[in-house]
Amino acid sequence: MADQYDVIVIGGGPGGYVAAIRAAQLGLKTACIEKRINKQGDPALGGTCLNVGCIPSKALLDSSWKFHEVSDSVAEHGIKVGKPKLDLATMHARKDKIVQQLTGGVAQLFKANGVTWLQGTGKLLAGKKVEYAPADGGDSQELAAENVVLASGSVPVNIPVAEIDDDLIVDSTGALEFDKVPKRLGVIGAGVIGLELGSVWARLGAEVVVIEAVETFLPLVDTQIAKEGLKTFRKQGLDIRLGARVTGTEIKNGKVDVGYADAEGDHSETFDKVIVAVGRRPYTENLLSPDSGVTLDERSFIYVNGQCRTDVPGIFAIGDLVRGPALAHKAIEEGVMVAEVIAGEHTQVNYECVPGVIYTHPEIAWVGKTEQEVKSTGEPYKTGVVPFAANGRALAAGEAAGMVKFVSDEKSDRILGMHVIGPQASELVQQGVVAMEFGATTEDLQLMVFGHPSLSETVHEAALAVDYKAIHVAQRRRKKK
Ligand code: FAD
Ligand code: NAD
Repeated sequence: MADQYDVIVIGGGPGGYVAAIRAAQLGLKTACIEKRINKQGDPALGGTCLNVGCIPSKALLDSSWKFHEVSDSVAEHGIKVGKPKLDLATMHARKDKIVQQLTGGVAQLFKANGVTWLQGTGKLLAGKKVEYAPADGGDSQELAAENVVLASGSVPVNIPVAEIDDDLIVDSTGALEFDKVPKRLGVIGAGVIGLELGSVWARLGAEVVVIEAVETFLPLVDTQIAKEGLKTFRKQGLDIRLGARVTGTEIKNGKVDVGYADAEGDHSETFDKVIVAVGRRPYTENLLSPDSGVTLDERSFIYVNGQCRTDVPGIFAIGDLVRGPALAHKAIEEGVMVAEVIAGEHTQVNYECVPGVIYTHPEIAWVGKTEQEVKSTGEPYKTGVVPFAANGRALAAGEAAGMVKFVSDEKSDRILGMHVIGPQASELVQQGVVAMEFGATTEDLQLMVFGHPSLSETVHEAALAVDYKAIHVAQRRRKKK
């Protein structure tokens, strides 16, 4: 007879491993099938995020920022050091250690919670059955479950004009592993990955050219914040070319020639390495048998409702595999939600309050609606914007670039969105998340006491600025109509 589980999760990334742990915590007999073999040749949990995504990229962002600071900004603090020397092998080893610590930690959590980790590949069959092919080449088995959670994540989009060769033309995974700093680095796509990984290599000394097809820089970010970001990143040396469509690539003498076209005509650039970062797509290859009954939507995501239920009762899908932003924290909360729903609870993810962060320096972070989105509804709104240049703590730290912006409903004063470019934006934005989750108004934030001196005071001032009450910036009141 087939092994029977209450819950089988296919995929052990942030969505899948969290769903499995939460299901086990709720007393459900749970297995998680994960096929990933890491670069050391070992089976690994943690998915894209822990192995080749969020964590290694942030390790390199932090290391490269320290290198940049020692090279360029400690002198103004009165600290004189010689020209720093880069030891890239040590930087990579540190990154790899953090990845192993975290992925090993997930395996420990599985043990502690009684989740069975099945190392290998899972495929959903009809009738809530799962085919499990062990990674060690053992015979496939048919498993049965009351509930199946599909969490197989996403993979990079490939474009025929720049085929990945894992040597000179790489995707985000290859871009985490360069063994020397490319002299000239081409990045195709000025999205989150292009900006983060482009920044890493620029800080370490590469000359970076970012080729972006669309005319608008970061179209999903509040326009005022995106404009400030573009100005800052260009000043940092990222040569961002907008409205530039790649037409072809050619390997010549160990370098890559990239052809692109923009409004002014055709151009060509030669690079030592090229990173292709033009988006990710849901990973559904060999995940579903033809009679599984699960359907895809028009963009090839698995179709789910607000509770992540597919069209088949008892089958759920979460994370990058389904609609919504492809973010680890969104996958995590969907993992918690489906486990609790399976256990009979009524948990819901508030998709209106999922923050976004771009880990450049300064960071960009936001939650809720942008000003352009609110404007397009035609509803009256108000905004408050305060720069970090008016913040004592930011100046003391030498981190005074950027601003905090609130967008609120004109009549009810409810906060509709918070947008930050500046120091610790990833942390500051959480104040907006908490406020919006509690349905706060800007007045609620205005009436709170914020510690001095702290970066958070700019959040306070931006809330005050919505009603022309900011103290540390001069504001001219609009005439009442
Ligand atoms: P994944 O993490 O992709 O995990 C899916 C897992 O399922 C994989 O390990 C895969 O091996 C396994 N799998 C697939 N098919 C099968 C099968 N049939 N059988 C068994 N196993 C299977 N997000 C953020 O929120 N913050 C960040 O800072 C951030 N940085 C990123 C940086 C980079 C370079 C990249 C590429 C992504 C980044 N992301 C970030 C996005 C984040 O990694 C994803 O949103 C997140 O990993 C999605 O989680 P998931 O569980 O849906 O899928
Ligand atoms: P993205 O969607 O953020 O950006 C892709 C960019 O490539 C877009 O600006 C797009 O216009 C451009 N593009 C598409 N086709 C092109 C072409 N042919 N030529 C030139 N430009 C082209 O995608 P990404 O940067 O690959 O990241 C994928 C996903 O991973 C993100 O959507 C995000 O959800 C996730 N991620 C998140 C973080 C984070 O949260 N900090 C970090 C990295 C990745």
